[in-house]
Amino acid sequence: MIRLEGLHGQTVIVGSGIAGLVAALEMAPQPVVLITRAGLGQECSSAWAQGGIAAALEADDSPAQHLADTLRAGDGLCDETVASGILSEAQEAIALLESYGVRFDRTADGVFSLGREAAHSHRRILHVGGDRTGSSITSTLTRAVPQCPSITCLTDINAQRLVTTDGHITGIQLQKNDYAEVLRTAQVIIATGGCGGLYDASTNPSGNFGQGVMMAARAGAALRDMEFMQFHPTALDTPQTPMALVSEAVRGEGAILIDQTGRRFMAQVPGAELAPRDVVARAVHQIISRGGRAFLDARATIGSDFAQNFPGIHALCAISGVDPARDPIPIRPVAHYHMGGIATDKDGRSTLHGLWAIGECAATGLHGANRLASNSLLETVVMGRRAARDVAGRGMRTLPTAPKSDLLPDNDLGPVRPVVSKYLGVVRNEMGLRCAISKLLPLVETYGRGSDPALVALAIAVFANLRCESRGGHYRSDFPDPSSQSQSYLMTLTEILAHAGSARQDPLLRTA
Ligand SMILES: Cc1cc2nc3c(=O)[nH]c(=O)nc-3n(C[C@H](O)[C@H](O)[C@H](O)COP(=O)(O)OP(=O)(O)OC[C@H]3O[C@@H](n4cnc5c(N)ncnc54)[C@H](O)[C@@H]3O)c2cc1C
Repeated sequence: MIRLEGLHGQTVIVGSGIAGLVAALEMAPQPVVLITRAGLGQECSSAWAQGGIAAALEADDSPAQHLADTLRAGDGLCDETVASGILSEAQEAIALLESYGVRFDRTADGVFSLGREAAHSHRRILHVGGDRTGSSITSTLTRAVPQCPSITCLTDINAQRLVTTDGHITGIQLQKNDYAEVLRTAQVIIATGGCGGLYDASTNPSGNFGQGVMMAARAGAALRDMEFMQFHPTALDTPQTPMALVSEAVRGEGAILIDQTGRRFMAQVPGAELAPRDVVARAVHQIISRGGRAFLDARATIGSDFAQNFPGIHALCAISGVDPARDPIPIRPVAHYHMGGIATDKDGRSTLHGLWAIGECAATGLHGANRLASNSLLETVVMGRRAARDVAGRGMRTLPTAPKSDLLPDNDLGPVRPVVSKYLGVVRNEMGLRCAISKLLPLVETYGRGSDPALVALAIAVFANLRCESRGGHYRSDFPDPSSQSQSYLMTLTEILAHAGSARQDPLLRTA
């Protein structure tokens, strides 16, 4: 039983990562219902972010230089206006987090201690407690929620479907155990995070497969650039899921990549181990797909300082019996960050009336084809606040009664993950994408336990099949170069299913 009395008509926010928490707090004093699948601030990527949050605060840095780095990483597909707007609000976003009690690391002089990350031209990464940035921000915001009487939290509740009437949001179907009920509302903000859970190997919470994207698509909202997944090249290669990251900082301090024979395989590549993430991920993928293994070797460069310089990673390695001072660290590429998602404007509005999307589930245009490291936490804060202001400015609406809910089956990722991992990974090609489509489409159409995750995976496959070029996080072995004329793509579910249907009919598949 879900107690919804007195909550009908309020704005609903789904997801309690940083995007959802900021939006809920910034909606005050307007009442909101914050719905989350696990506990508040749990089962979210936000709490696992170790790197930091980007903001151009150094004296010789500027939002314009931050923008230039972002556009370079985005590989031609950023929306420059949107990106410029978000990055220029970085200083305000940091001040906002401080106002909720977040304490960023500072130097002995009291100024922000700024770190540098790959592809950033300046030192502009803020941290909290060293590598505990995400967990510190998430827990600080989580502690602020009970102090905010306008927020009602419904935890351990799964949002399953958006209800629409005449193209407008009129409710959201919620499920807890064997019970489902519709909360009537005209305004929903989706903040459900990424979809790495679709892959066997991912850094995201395993249960997060893009539920927000699925709900938005089923309700008629357009999706943008779903093919762009960022694969992190160096996850610790253990049977553990989700997989732990061996951060770029280890390569930054001189660790080299070697194969099982000890050969340094990035030596001849421009940038070597610090080449862009997608380049390193493909090199590691190539070694592994030929039956080899890849390792990060920190023995000569970091050696006995490893435990002191990287205590978190050292502890993770120790669980698998690896001592980075003596042993090469086994690594592999993993699905890490989804640049695509629900298409939104600069305020987080989707193409569907009454629906906003913020954080990793949204595609604002900031990241384009590839995310610049540490821009995503910044985006969650800026867009959380913008969406809250936009929604709050509209006031409440009276609602028609939403239809009664049917209990939907629990999601099963079992039939989906092998297809996604095999065909929608680091390297893709037409035959593989068409195979993926032919396997995923029946799962979507049966409306069984695999239908919801299969729908998100199918969208990735269809977008990837249509993008006949390699760009950013999307690499096609049959089209290895970028096309001279490239653009973002928007599609609704109807269009995605139409493309999937025609790809399935293709005679190529019947001979595969
Ligand atoms: C290991 C790791 C390290 C990272 N490091 C960095 C970094 O250093 N800097 C950086 O900028 N970015 C980093 N990122 C990316 C960044 O953490 C995420 O993009 C960002 O935190 C996403 O925030 P979010 O609020 O959109 O989603 P999340 O934090 O993932 O939260 C999603 C929320 O939605 C809930 N939810 C999902 N589906 C449902 C449903 N159907 N019903 C109810 N609730 C639901 C989840 O339980 C969760 O509460 C990292 C990511 C990972 C995984």
